[in-house]
Amino acid sequence: MSLTVTVLGATGSIGRSTVDLLQQHPGRFRVGALVGGRDAAALAALAGDLRPDFVALADESAGPALREALSGTGIANGAGEAAVMEAVAREADIVVAAVSGAAGLRPTHAALRLGRTVALANKESLVCAGDAFMRDAARYGARLLPVDSEHNALAQALGDGRVADVAKMTITASGGPFRTWDAARIAAATPTEAAAHPTWSMGMKINIDSASLMNKGLELIEAHHLFSIEPERLDVVVHPQSIVHGLVHWRDGAVTAGLAMPDMRVPIAHCLGLGDRLTIERGRGLDLVAAGSLTFEAADEARFPCLRIARAALRDGGAMPTVMNAANEIAVSAFIRGAIPFYGIADLVERACAHFAAEYRTAPADVDEALAIDAHVRDWSAAALPEPRRAG
Ligand code: NDP
Ligand code: MG
Repeated sequence: MSLTVTVLGATGSIGRSTVDLLQQHPGRFRVGALVGGRDAAALAALAGDLRPDFVALADESAGPALREALSGTGIANGAGEAAVMEAVAREADIVVAAVSGAAGLRPTHAALRLGRTVALANKESLVCAGDAFMRDAARYGARLLPVDSEHNALAQALGDGRVADVAKMTITASGGPFRTWDAARIAAATPTEAAAHPTWSMGMKINIDSASLMNKGLELIEAHHLFSIEPERLDVVVHPQSIVHGLVHWRDGAVTAGLAMPDMRVPIAHCLGLGDRLTIERGRGLDLVAAGSLTFEAADEARFPCLRIARAALRDGGAMPTVMNAANEIAVSAFIRGAIPFYGIADLVERACAHFAAEYRTAPADVDEALAIDAHVRDWSAAALPEPRRAG
């Protein structure tokens, strides 16, 4: 019997890697629903290939274009928040949660509340409302499978072992495009330079976060919630080849690690397999001799202050990760449109964390509270950006 898979964020980088795997295994999977943001043409094209039961776009104004593109196909579709929720509510054995940013919280949480098996790429869900997500996953009997490569590697390295027996978990960072750059050069970096990831092919936002190492900070917070492990037992090491993704250091000195070529289809396939491994066609297997050498170095928090800021937010707890994430999303989009320099990202995020430290001491109790904090901090952060320069 085939498994029904719903993909939230189907037109994105993770979404397309997922679709590739689904297409490689037509007998094993069928597609329940596909959800996108605003790109009607791209979503309709995917739907034409995959023949899902239902297709939804978050952007209501793109509804007519989607309807038009799907006319004659018989594929039910809709646009706006209610349509996205209808897509999530459709029967599915696995929901791949790959919307980018805080926009992913509601649909991902809705899938958890239905007790679904959720392959979680949207790390913001755990960063913004990790306590609530983990509590509700347990309460509604949902399974959370980590798609993020480091966490997927950790889950595989942990196996049936107990977190109580773990001395430390280490996630690796490629170091991003600025790993070898000095601070002055990083300060003048352009969005194109920041988006040029050395090893992974990903969406724009996560590329910039990888260049600042904020992505690693978000991943420490993600690991803290997923594995219920304290910040003191979590560690980052820079590994430019991106082949070792996560390591579990046991208290007896043994270390188990997850290795794979940097290809997001590997962790996604692990999630979709539900314990029964999938074959990946056109994947590159790991050849250690060809890889030659695997190197490791300490992460430099002086040149990459976002990692320091994220560690502090994790340590301080409460809603500080929620605050940090919201400010970072505003800062990254300001950097992409050229409104602030690269270190302006860390500067804005740090100012937001300092500004809201007293106000948001306690962790959000639920998604609504997390999104209210998120909206408040976004407004503050947008207002705290430098005034745009006027022409003439
Ligand atoms: P992309 O930007 O490539 O894709 C985002 C997807 O979300 C698109 O399908 C987009 O649709 C859709 N979307 C945007 N806004 C909404 C909304 N409001 N409601 C519903 N759908 C929406 O992102 P990535 O695939 O790179 O990342 C997705 C998530 O996975 C992120 O949380 C990221 O941190 C995480 N992740 C990504 C990795 C990667 O390798 N890319 C690795 C590990 C984690 P549209 O195209 O129409 O805008
Ligand atoms: Mg990752």
